[in-house]
Amino acid sequence: MTTHYDFVLAGGGLAGLSLACRLAETTAFAQSSILIIDQDAKTRNDRTFSFWSSAPGPFDAAICQSWSRLRVAGPDGARDMDLGAYRYHTVRGIDFYQHARQRLAQHDTVQFRRGHVEQIVDGPDAATVLVDGQAITATWVFDSRPPRLTDQREDKRHTRLKLHFRGWEIEAQPGAFDPQVATFMDFRTPQDGAVRFFYVLPFADNQALVEYTLFTDARLTRQETEQALATYLQTVHGVAEFRILEEEGGCLPITDAPFARRLGKRVLAIGVRGGRIKPSTGYAFSRVQADSDAIVRSLLACGHPFEPLAEPACYRWLDAVLLRVMRTHSAAVAPAFAAMFDRNPMSRILRFLDEQATALDILSIMASLPAPLFVGTALQTAAAQIGAGGKARQRGKQRGSRQPAATGMSQ
Ligand SMILES: Cc1cc2nc3c(=O)[nH]c(=O)nc-3n(C[C@H](O)[C@H](O)[C@H](O)COP(=O)(O)OP(=O)(O)OC[C@H]3O[C@@H](n4cnc5c(N)ncnc54)[C@H](O)[C@@H]3O)c2cc1C
Repeated sequence: MTTHYDFVLAGGGLAGLSLACRLAETTAFAQSSILIIDQDAKTRNDRTFSFWSSAPGPFDAAICQSWSRLRVAGPDGARDMDLGAYRYHTVRGIDFYQHARQRLAQHDTVQFRRGHVEQIVDGPDAATVLVDGQAITATWVFDSRPPRLTDQREDKRHTRLKLHFRGWEIEAQPGAFDPQVATFMDFRTPQDGAVRFFYVLPFADNQALVEYTLFTDARLTRQETEQALATYLQTVHGVAEFRILEEEGGCLPITDAPFARRLGKRVLAIGVRGGRIKPSTGYAFSRVQADSDAIVRSLLACGHPFEPLAEPACYRWLDAVLLRVMRTHSAAVAPAFAAMFDRNPMSRILRFLDEQATALDILSIMASLPAPLFVGTALQTAAAQIGAGGKARQRGKQRGSRQPAATGMSQ
């Protein structure tokens, strides 16, 4: 039996639930049927989302803690910075899932289904979603199933790395942490050919989420990341004995290569699958909220969800250069960031990372970075992109107009 919905969300994590809330709470879609399919019950605190903002946001009710100061530390010491009008917020994954589900439960038009999406087949008027052998059709399908890491193909034009997370929420001795200051980045760990840092979200003076984060193309074992966490806790925070309250981890593909967003006439990729993670930072929470707004605006204005948010070319270029620096000069990243944080107010850096900086902000930030490294890498990035682009055009000409046909299927 086939069932039809106006909107199907394949994946009910951050992006799926954020967009579902936005759709269900838009008056024009009050009568539209929405189905959210996830293979997981989402009853575990599987990750913790942090983000910064200077204005109220749609999921503020789920925030568990906010800070007005952030710390950045490296081998040269630690600096605490005031956030001005910004606040750094943390939302526990489980609180986000429960809060979103409670909001959605108020709408009779919204249904949840636990199941594995096997395939999405595009069509002219509707797409078909295969869930555990059953076909469901939808006018619009939003696909946030995570992209496979193995789908990352190496090419000369773009940098492709993996972003690893491994975090412990721990209880330690009183006074181990300063609950007034969250640590944004602490580079006090051997870099060993990758960009590695910790962040610390102190919920009390004896309780914090401590997370190890790496941009690398290497494979890592869980044992390695846990050893790094234990060493950091002992050497930097003097914490030798602690109780693990919760654990989280994951690995995401990071690249400056463009992500395919429109997967068919009726299918849009959202979340990490739709390239909503900022390549140079690994943050996605605020970008997912802005994307959900843009999708709803597009549906209302154009009758389809494909009118995307503007992606400023200048930031895509800066992301590409920074990713290349991370891969080719990983040891230079911590000192470069230290210089940037020393010479710019935090509010300017946050505006820059939000891609909302003024031209003067961008120039000030560029001027604070080591010129030979960044100018050299910018030239290499340009050469790689122009060279590879030229070769691709040549190959295209040789092949004539014979292009592989789109299958309209995604797995
Ligand atoms: C440990 C960790 C910490 C992070 N911390 C931050 C942070 O502090 N700030 C920030 O901005 N970003 C953070 N991120 C990055 C990003 O915000 C998250 O990865 C976010 O969850 C991405 O949202 P998403 O909807 O794309 O993917 P997910 O939230 O992973 O949602 C995808 C959903 O699809 C479901 N699914 C997968 N395959 C199928 C299938 N075949 N059928 C049905 N369902 C399926 C999954 O169960 C999942 O619920 C973090 C990521 C990780 C892993």
